[in-house]
Amino acid sequence: MPPVVLAIDQGTTSSRAVVYDPATFAPLGVAQQEIGQHYPRDGWVEHEPEDVWYSVARTCREALAAAGRSPADVAAVGITNQRETVVVWDRDTGRPVHRAIVWQDRRTTDFCRARAADGPWLTAKTGLVLDPYFSGTKLRWLLENDPQLRPAAERGTLAAGTIDSFLMWRLTGGASHVTDATNASRTLLFDIHRMRWDDELLNYFGVPRVLLPEVKPSAAAFGVTKGLDFLPDGVPVRGVAGDQQAALFGQGCFAPGEAKCTYGTGAFLLLHTGDTPVSSRHRLLTTAAASTDGRPKYALEGAVFVAGAAIQWLRDGLRLFGTAAESEELAGRSNPAEPVVFVPGLVGLGAPHWVPEARGVMFGLTRATTAADLTRAALEGVAFQVADLIDAAVNDLGGDATAPLKVDGGMARNDRFLRTQADFLGRPVVRAAEAESTALGAGMLAAVGAGLTDEPALRARSLAGTRFDPTLGAAEREARRAGWHKAVRAVVAFYAGG
Ligand code: ADP
Repeated sequence: MPPVVLAIDQGTTSSRAVVYDPATFAPLGVAQQEIGQHYPRDGWVEHEPEDVWYSVARTCREALAAAGRSPADVAAVGITNQRETVVVWDRDTGRPVHRAIVWQDRRTTDFCRARAADGPWLTAKTGLVLDPYFSGTKLRWLLENDPQLRPAAERGTLAAGTIDSFLMWRLTGGASHVTDATNASRTLLFDIHRMRWDDELLNYFGVPRVLLPEVKPSAAAFGVTKGLDFLPDGVPVRGVAGDQQAALFGQGCFAPGEAKCTYGTGAFLLLHTGDTPVSSRHRLLTTAAASTDGRPKYALEGAVFVAGAAIQWLRDGLRLFGTAAESEELAGRSNPAEPVVFVPGLVGLGAPHWVPEARGVMFGLTRATTAADLTRAALEGVAFQVADLIDAAVNDLGGDATAPLKVDGGMARNDRFLRTQADFLGRPVVRAAEAESTALGAGMLAAVGAGLTDEPALRARSLAGTRFDPTLGAAEREARRAGWHKAVRAVVAFYAGG
């Protein structure tokens, strides 16, 4: 049997495993399992690391069975994971000493607020902002709050890492304590310019260096399997990247100016900036991108908090339709002479506006406004926000990005929405042929790492997909976007103007 690659996609709500044919990257078998969410207090979110590991082991076994392939056919393993979530475990027993603290967890808000003045130098070094989201503050909390942990950490009997690191420890029978640069770049402990753990940052967060894994590029020799009941010994882990960076790679974005946007509950945009860590004038994050040649690669990252969530709200809150997919047909019935502008800042506005206290606002309601008009306005509101985010990222990078925007995620199933996105951007949007860019990216990295394929071959492949070309003339596009910006200014004035 020809070799296959096994991609592990350990996400926030579930673990998935996908078996790929490395010649075509057709998925041969897929398995998925939800993982338990623990909310011990308001704003706290934890995962049980043993559950995470169990779900990964089970889905790997099931995906191979679904593909009808033997574990002996696996030439390489790739891992992509929920980013920023931290695990601390005992090096002797491999047992976690605490539940994983998940990226969504806000328990370090007070620390971040008290240290706000240190934001600028932390941003300069890490490309991030001082926020509870990132791992360093969570690791600091763990070491501060359990009196036994710090001495053990300093003695070197504990190991810590993001989810990829914990999974690799388990996959390799404790032989490899490693991570990749994209995951390391989300910790606030990693200097993205020098691509290494930084003593000043480690001191600042009180994290002993011996606790942390070795950092490798995303396509590398991370270790080999040992002592598992679902894979033979000696299968190499060859590709690792955090979920958004894996999706960027899976979408074939390898060069400066190439970007992808994943439209799920929120929307995540990553713009590749090549060998340069571009710092943003719009408070976008600077982050490591997956590298297959060992040289550092970078991206700018921004998020729109409410994307598919706006459609969920129309469906569940206002009950305008029964399924998210119906939003497409309904929006198509909207009257173009009834322009409603909806600024869907339901949980505040993020980059490039940054008004956390903002809320959603609709402009232009009349007695003739219908559910169809509101639905179209919601889809347009998301497309306007993503267009602003892309403009900000492209402006930070300098120059004009003309490459098509690669898209994926649940909301990208909506053709009408993607045509609107192309219209507001004035450039084409391409929906990936393969819906799962994240797992695909991990599979592709593993295949490159194992020498089964290379970037030029993958680039040719990534051009496939459904393309949506802009149809709006430049003048009309500018008029629509000017109307949107006027609406955003009014919202900002209302909520942030005092
Ligand atoms: P997540 O990974 O964040 O859970 P998914 O990628 O599964 O998200 O996408 C689900 C989101 O996409 C939901 O918020 C849903 O409202 C939205 N969605 C799904 N299908 C459509 C559609 N056809 N049109 C618009 N929105 C959609």
